[in-house]
Amino acid sequence: MNSLLDSLNEQQLLAVKTTDNPLRIIAGAGSGKTRVITTKIAYLINVKNIFPRKILAMTFTNKAAKEMKERIKKMLDNDNVNPFISTFHAFCARVLREECQAIGLDSKFLILDGNDQRSIIKKIIKEMKLNDDGSLNKFDRKALSKISFWKNELTEPDEALSNYENIEEKAFAKIYEKYQEHLLKHNSVDFDDLQILVYKIFRDHPDVLQKWRDRFDYVMVDEFQDTNEIQFDLIKFLTNGKNNLTVVGDPDQTIYSWRGAKIQIIMDFHKTYANAVTVVLNENYRSTKQILNLANDFIEHNKQREKKTIFTNNAGGEKAKLKEFASRYGEAKFVANEINRLVTEQNYRFGDVFILYRINAWSQEFEKTLDNAKIPYQLIGSIKFRERKVIKDSIALLKSVAIRDDLSLERALKLTPKVGGVTIEKIFNLASEKQLPLFDLIIDEENSIKQVTKNLDKLRNTFIHAKTMFEANESVVKILKYLIIESGYETIVKTLDDKDRNEWKNIEALFDQLENFEKSFNPELYGEENMTLAFLQEESLASNEDDETESNRVSLLTIHSAKGLENKVVFVVGLNRDIFPSKNSMLTISEFEEERRALYVALTRAKEVLYISYIKGEYSHLSSGTLIESKFVKELNSDLYSYESNLFVRHDGSVFGQNRTKLSQPLEEVVESKIKENDLVTHIMFGDGVVIKKLGKQLQIAFNDPKYGVMVIAANNPVLSK
Ligand code: ATP
Ligand code: MG
Repeated sequence: MNSLLDSLNEQQLLAVKTTDNPLRIIAGAGSGKTRVITTKIAYLINVKNIFPRKILAMTFTNKAAKEMKERIKKMLDNDNVNPFISTFHAFCARVLREECQAIGLDSKFLILDGNDQRSIIKKIIKEMKLNDDGSLNKFDRKALSKISFWKNELTEPDEALSNYENIEEKAFAKIYEKYQEHLLKHNSVDFDDLQILVYKIFRDHPDVLQKWRDRFDYVMVDEFQDTNEIQFDLIKFLTNGKNNLTVVGDPDQTIYSWRGAKIQIIMDFHKTYANAVTVVLNENYRSTKQILNLANDFIEHNKQREKKTIFTNNAGGEKAKLKEFASRYGEAKFVANEINRLVTEQNYRFGDVFILYRINAWSQEFEKTLDNAKIPYQLIGSIKFRERKVIKDSIALLKSVAIRDDLSLERALKLTPKVGGVTIEKIFNLASEKQLPLFDLIIDEENSIKQVTKNLDKLRNTFIHAKTMFEANESVVKILKYLIIESGYETIVKTLDDKDRNEWKNIEALFDQLENFEKSFNPELYGEENMTLAFLQEESLASNEDDETESNRVSLLTIHSAKGLENKVVFVVGLNRDIFPSKNSMLTISEFEEERRALYVALTRAKEVLYISYIKGEYSHLSSGTLIESKFVKELNSDLYSYESNLFVRHDGSVFGQNRTKLSQPLEEVVESKIKENDLVTHIMFGDGVVIKKLGKQLQIAFNDPKYGVMVIAANNPVLSK
């Protein structure tokens, strides 16, 4: 343990040893914030003799939580220490399992993932006959984000219905109402509810709150700059008035304001915790000088920020390499070749490489090219494994028996040969006629489902037996295998498989995953004795992330899922107009600055080698026309990278093209403001206000604070945001 503390610098050590004041650590990327948290946990356990379960640490992704747990076990050289390290959502799911009766929720509640939500919304939209042209996609996504917005500001459906602003919003409010009815009827909660319901429980039930406050002697939050109001409220509930909180963050890495994250929360920390101590870390241990200088220089373009100094004693390293390609194929091909070169000539491993992109769709060319080049890779945080049809079908079978929700049962029914839409509708009608839950109808003693179809006998018998297995808390793998084989699904999958397609392999991989889960299953961590239910809970929480992690593979991931991670070699690809900044974000100055922070996050993931690339000249549906470089390309300081343009890649992989050292285009003007009359805005100095009038490029704003009253401010003033 002592040797661990020895490696820390003075400020880091101070942060670790400050245990009886609220503590805020503000520092740039790679300065050891996460390392301070892990070391502090180890220190509390080893030196301060705090029982591990009395320490709560919040991280941003399941992957980060997992890494942190492993690091601590290593530091303490003990596999059995289990501090409570989780994401906000997983923590809330855990609280809710124990406390749901406080709000009248049945403890067997189901957590919906994004796909479940979309299916429900689609059904509602269909029932309401809102879209007859079949163009559901955009509308349902918009409805979902509106619902999430309402939920997070604690607006109930009836309030939304009485306060809508236009016809579209009225439709969304109606959808929201029906959506909540559906959730209630099916004893379900969505991701937003997890946090909101726990917030309500803590707010309205002081006894419950006290219990949870007492449960933790110490609370720590990583990536605090991306905390939203509700999450901060939860933290306050647990720690306010105590001196047991440590938060760490970097305001320059706030990239989740679209989900309500507010930089102000970290900046104003002392307003809530008056006796808070702030520690600033200045030394970057992650990146070479060249990489750090480029990233630091770039983030200076943001106006809404406080300047920080950060330096490194690491080696100078090579300049970052900026590359222009004529096509997406060329970019991917170059990256694949370069990876092979680094691995064969420079002793790097595949696992040392990240390929980072702004939008998920950018991965597709890389998946194809890496496959062809036989380079092992994994997609992190995206839809790969879990989204495959066979996996969804298998999980639906399991959920049908364990959770018995309509969506899964409908999916399971559809897997049965000769059972189609019409039959399924009849089954649903019969269930409501008999006032039986769907599952109960399928397995009822009279076998009443025979009235509708004789083709369900097999599924019925399978369900009856699997239900017994489930209730006896038998192994999840056993239950799933039973379901898949006995229902006939195995045969269906195996008949579809041929030499190009091996879906059964996916199911086998799922069995492996379940087995691993069972091996480490600990009911206390889930607040749930039943292994199947615990697995399904974990599954729904993880569904936005994929953790098919294997050690020696290139990782493909979005910048948002790369938060907090690092690697020796980083390719930041697709730095193109309409892609990065993404099309939707070319709107306000604030959104533009958020995109700039995203690129800062991307650049600062690299330890040793950094490539940045864009496409010029190729037509793409992802862009409005031909792909050209992003505005950010010109903001990178050309003294700090080497540049090659007009690169074409031959099919044998060799590259030809002109070399240039500098970009010559003039700097373009930044985005127009989209602030309108009646918008609520925030000014960095004057606080919140509302736009009364737009006067050309000026806005007349009434600020809430009477000290400032009504003022006229330039619409594109960078310190003003919506
Ligand atoms: P981010 O802002 O990206 O989340 P961070 O501030 O959390 O970064 P860490 O991930 O904790 O930074 O640390 C970056 C790297 O520097 C890690 O590899 C970590 O092990 C290393 N590091 C941190 N502090 C020290 C130290 N005192 N001595 C040596 N290495 C260190
Ligand atoms: Mg970190």
